Amino acid sequence: MKLAINGGEAVRRRKFKAYNTIGDAEKAAAKRVLDRGVLSGFIGSWDQNQFYGGIEVQDFEAKWSKYFGCKHSVSVNSASSAIQIALGALDIKNGDEVIVSPYSMSVSATAPLMWGATPVFADIDPNHYNMTPESIKSKITSKTKAIIVVHIFGCPADMDEIMAVARENNIKVIEDASQSPGAIYKGKKAGTIGDIGVFSLNVHKHIQSGEGGVCVTDNDELAVRLQLLRNHSEAVVEGMGRLDLKNIYGFNFRITEIQAAIASVQLQDRLDKELSLRQEYAKAYDDILTKFDFIETTNVEADRTHAYYIQGFRFLKEKAGITREKFVDAVCAELDVVEGYESDGVQVWCGYTKPLYRLPIFGYDLNLPVVEDMYANKLFLHDFTKSSISKDDMLDVINAYQKVCENINELK
Ligand SMILES: *Cc1c(COP(=O)(O)O)cnc(C)c1O
Repeated sequence: MKLAINGGEAVRRRKFKAYNTIGDAEKAAAKRVLDRGVLSGFIGSWDQNQFYGGIEVQDFEAKWSKYFGCKHSVSVNSASSAIQIALGALDIKNGDEVIVSPYSMSVSATAPLMWGATPVFADIDPNHYNMTPESIKSKITSKTKAIIVVHIFGCPADMDEIMAVARENNIKVIEDASQSPGAIYKGKKAGTIGDIGVFSLNVHKHIQSGEGGVCVTDNDELAVRLQLLRNHSEAVVEGMGRLDLKNIYGFNFRITEIQAAIASVQLQDRLDKELSLRQEYAKAYDDILTKFDFIETTNVEADRTHAYYIQGFRFLKEKAGITREKFVDAVCAELDVVEGYESDGVQVWCGYTKPLYRLPIFGYDLNLPVVEDMYANKLFLHDFTKSSISKDDMLDVINAYQKVCENINELK
């Protein structure tokens, strides 16, 4: 069978549907808020009720705490804001060091800069791409105050070992669970294991409100500090009777009632379904791709579940006899783009992100071997696990991979 990249017929010439999870329940929730006319219930000063936001915001936070099994949830306008106030709540200051992952969305490494702290990069695990406890340990100095653990692509990091390293060294742990809402690690939800967990509700994530984020914590004092940082602390502490906190100045990181109402519906009606479907699809792809000795997948250990924000694989060029790039180009040639997102190309790509220490803002002289190898040689990703993918779409993707794998000699 001639590969499409060599002029053969492609497996699929039909665009994929875009991911759109806004349905009737979300529309009804937004309308309920519009009918009420109160688009935000926040005020930026002390008031026993309005300091904490309107009814939709408070209801959403209560639902989030219940679902995730945590004591406090503090909604904010993005996960980027959430990481920023998490560091502020933990009192990260000028001169402190924060250990971060080089393989994540940029903000999980840049956020410490906003507090004058220094990001220190640790290397990643070659199976699930999260920072390893060993690498974290090797980066600890007397200045290390926090670790920002990212559960990248949706797979929980080795939290028991990371928490043990952190506790031994009196270091705080922030979990960036933006890509792993609902993933489970040893019976607990990812994001609820460290001191503060962070989630994203931006339009690309499992569940969304356009823009948005949430901080979670079981610590009462951290919750107060997060709420103050979200909402004009400087104008609040006096009325609140917390003059001991007078050196915190706050931001406006509040979400609107409409965002909260939509996010509530998404959490209640969609997250679990989205997770089980993604796990089912990911397993189907794993079953096919790992039949070929030049492809490896993430071995998800029995003590955790993977949320599959996106799905990663490793391509072993020595065994395949061709490069990862050639393989991915051939798979892309068999498939089609996403409606409305044509310029993004076919949703299979190489490398994820350049190791973040090489961003112009850092320009660190670093070379962490595992992340470099994943970026330059091994990792490829696809975005075919989400619920916009039908069973038929999934079979097309499987056929495309299978065709290229079986005919790999055509590419040599
Ligand atoms: C999406 C994402 C963020 C940022 O989320 P925003 O809500 O857009 O600020 C942070 N970290 C990770 C790992 C992400 O995937």
